[in-house]
Amino acid sequence: MDVLILGAGGREHALAAALAPSPRLGRLFVAPGNPGTAALAANVALDSCDPGAVVAFARREGIGLVVVGPEAPLVAGVADALEGAGIAVFGPSRAAAALEGSKGFTKDLARDVAIPTAGYGRFHSAEAARAHLADVPYPTVIKADGLAAGKGVVIAADRAEAERSVDFMFGGGFGAAGSSVVIEEFMEGEELSFFALCDGIRALPFASAQDHKRVGEGDTGPNTGGMGAISPAPVLDAALEARIMAEIVEPTLRGMRDRGTPFRGVLFVGLMLTADGPKLIEFNVRFGDPETQAMLPRLDADLLPLLEAVARGALPAGPVRLRPEVAVSVVMAARGYPDAPLKGTEVRGLDAAAAVPGVTLFHAGTRAEDGRMLADGGRVLTLVGRGRDVAEARARAYAGVDALDWPDGFCRRDIGLRSRP
Ligand code: ATP
Repeated sequence: MDVLILGAGGREHALAAALAPSPRLGRLFVAPGNPGTAALAANVALDSCDPGAVVAFARREGIGLVVVGPEAPLVAGVADALEGAGIAVFGPSRAAAALEGSKGFTKDLARDVAIPTAGYGRFHSAEAARAHLADVPYPTVIKADGLAAGKGVVIAADRAEAERSVDFMFGGGFGAAGSSVVIEEFMEGEELSFFALCDGIRALPFASAQDHKRVGEGDTGPNTGGMGAISPAPVLDAALEARIMAEIVEPTLRGMRDRGTPFRGVLFVGLMLTADGPKLIEFNVRFGDPETQAMLPRLDADLLPLLEAVARGALPAGPVRLRPEVAVSVVMAARGYPDAPLKGTEVRGLDAAAAVPGVTLFHAGTRAEDGRMLADGGRVLTLVGRGRDVAEARARAYAGVDALDWPDGFCRRDIGLRSRP
């Protein structure tokens, strides 16, 4: 079967690397891809958010499965267009992508199907939101309803800060994403990410991870797309996984089916482990980056039939087999990230880094030019170390980092440390 992956980051390189060895795979395309995917697949210059262009390419090349990496093509309706053309797609419809695209939609669904989550209110005007702020305990959490590149959430310490955030959002600070806001209770606990494959009716636990969002060590500095992750999440055990499936994933699938918008794809559940048990923070409707780079190298199964089964609504009954090892992914970013990453500097030592035992290297913001590899974005590479435990996985990942020769790049040195040793 010929497969097309949409996206250009480390996540898509990891997806390509996991699909490449499948005996079921014919040709592999990535649109637009990066220099890492170019070594495994044919990169295609295609606007992955243009449903017509994606369908036309898939038809012309006889693609059997399209795997959507990021959320933007889903929100643009690419999965709907492919399904309409009879082409199998891994990724939800635009309507089902509202689980990521609208925080208010998700909170209403959680209420309707009794998913444990923070209490909330949904507001469509600054006046109504401000009135509510008079009555809530602090800190409180203010969220722009729509996609705001990870910046639309404010934990307000007091009423003055909360009012400023509400005014900023309704004042157009996040564009249309802030035309309504959710105000919710502050939850305390440890965060983890849980991923379940969903075929519209059934769900299969896939893997777990914990990520590191802040740019600086010790979780300081501004938020980023993610500076590293560890998989599995050290706090997850079988009992907690069963609770997450029964209390969050399965009710969500039922709720989406009842609304006439069944969810097919990977459900990325952001959770807080509170004193009262696991509670939903948010959903994403695609694999995470850099969680995927840590999860997929642990897979001890052919990924292609699994993704196909999701797309065709026929998940197997059995569990997904993962190696009982720990993987730590460390993002190498360009100096200045996230505000103003320095572009065009040369990255050397990639072969040496990839040759470290137990290490896999994934490209993201790189550009090949005249036989040299240049930094061409904020998050440039992900180094993944695998080992029997956190210490070994970390040691390997950082041995990979140290084999690179890139004075203009940096990483966090504490990925995986926050977790239990
Ligand atoms: P991202 O793009 O980073 O995944 P997002 O902008 O979609 O995030 P959320 O995941 O809902 O927004 O929130 C971002 C972060 O804010 C969470 O990872 C969590 O640390 C914190 N957070 C969100 N809601 C709450 C809450 N109710 N209580 C405590 N912390 C919260």
